Amino acid sequence: MGRIFNFYSGPATLPEEILKQAASELIDYKNSGMSIMETSHRSKIYEEVHNEAISLIRSLFKVPDNYNVLFLQGGASSQFFMIPMNLIGEGETADYINTGEWTNKAIKEAKILGKNINVIASSESTNFDRIPKESEYKINNKAQYLYIASNNTIFGTEYKKYPETNGVPLVIDASSDIFSYPVDWKNIGLIYAGTQKNAGPSGMAIVIIRKDLCVDKNKNIPTMLRYAIHAENNSLFNTPPTFTIYLVNLNLKWLKSKGGVEGIQKINQEKAKLIYDVIDNSEGYYKGHAQKDSRSLMNITFNLKSKELEEKFAKEGEKSGLIGLKGHRSVGGIRASTYNAMPVEGCEKLAQYMKDFMKNNK
Ligand SMILES: *Cc1c(COP(=O)(O)O)cnc(C)c1O
Repeated sequence: MGRIFNFYSGPATLPEEILKQAASELIDYKNSGMSIMETSHRSKIYEEVHNEAISLIRSLFKVPDNYNVLFLQGGASSQFFMIPMNLIGEGETADYINTGEWTNKAIKEAKILGKNINVIASSESTNFDRIPKESEYKINNKAQYLYIASNNTIFGTEYKKYPETNGVPLVIDASSDIFSYPVDWKNIGLIYAGTQKNAGPSGMAIVIIRKDLCVDKNKNIPTMLRYAIHAENNSLFNTPPTFTIYLVNLNLKWLKSKGGVEGIQKINQEKAKLIYDVIDNSEGYYKGHAQKDSRSLMNITFNLKSKELEEKFAKEGEKSGLIGLKGHRSVGGIRASTYNAMPVEGCEKLAQYMKDFMKNNK
């Protein structure tokens, strides 16, 4: 059996090319007589991989010089507490916009720490089907940051433009859309992503933090949870997940071959359009969850008229080589994750499958 089209939300599909390269180098990495995962994280061959990955992130994502690029453990979820721990000091506050489960979790962790945070906008009343408009909220100009999730993996909504913050640093959970479009760095204080959706395999977060925020503001933070210590040590304070970083590096080279984030953005727009067009031309047979102006290019969520039909859609899809289409339990229905590594052919096949299914299941 060959490769199938995998629409899982994460861990998610990876480019076949990089899997093949990793397979070919697995036992003997560049004539070293060992695998990259067996070598010391202080060795020259590993350091080359590590530093190449950082410099590719810098060049492809156009990261300005006044930011650190860090590889941190504990996935994206550890950032939910590291951010308030490091960035909110005694007597200080931060603002959050709640657009779904992942921001909810981040809000909860900040509160566990006893931090004084304000949820200034939320789309909860309509089951997170949209991104709140800037006219609906006011950012506290004394906030240490404004926290958003740029793409809401579960509900299928995405910011088309980051909020204008007038100098308040933006903190962005970009776990499910990092490297899928170029960003405007003007207001960004920190942008981070768990690696398993758009950057590689699971187990790590890429954190890009402005240097002036990367300071030891609070004294009671365990060493491993301090941004400053990881920045001082080039993310080699302790043993990093070396094999994950190796695969992230291969993935970034692949991204470069696709024209970088600008090139992949065009491809992603084309891919998502194939599926949204079927939804919009289905006369209500497929009902998109997200409001049109908040639609995600990475996670496309929709419902059919009954649970039974949705189950049949996902099951028969599997038989046609389209897997991972079942939606998250909080939205139900169907979710197709179309991250950078999903080939155009996968989306073409899904769009055709949707048309055929509709015809055969009126
Ligand atoms: C998947 C995801 C997370 C959680 O990632 P983990 O690495 O499992 O902690 C956080 N935020 C968003 C937006 C996600 O999509």
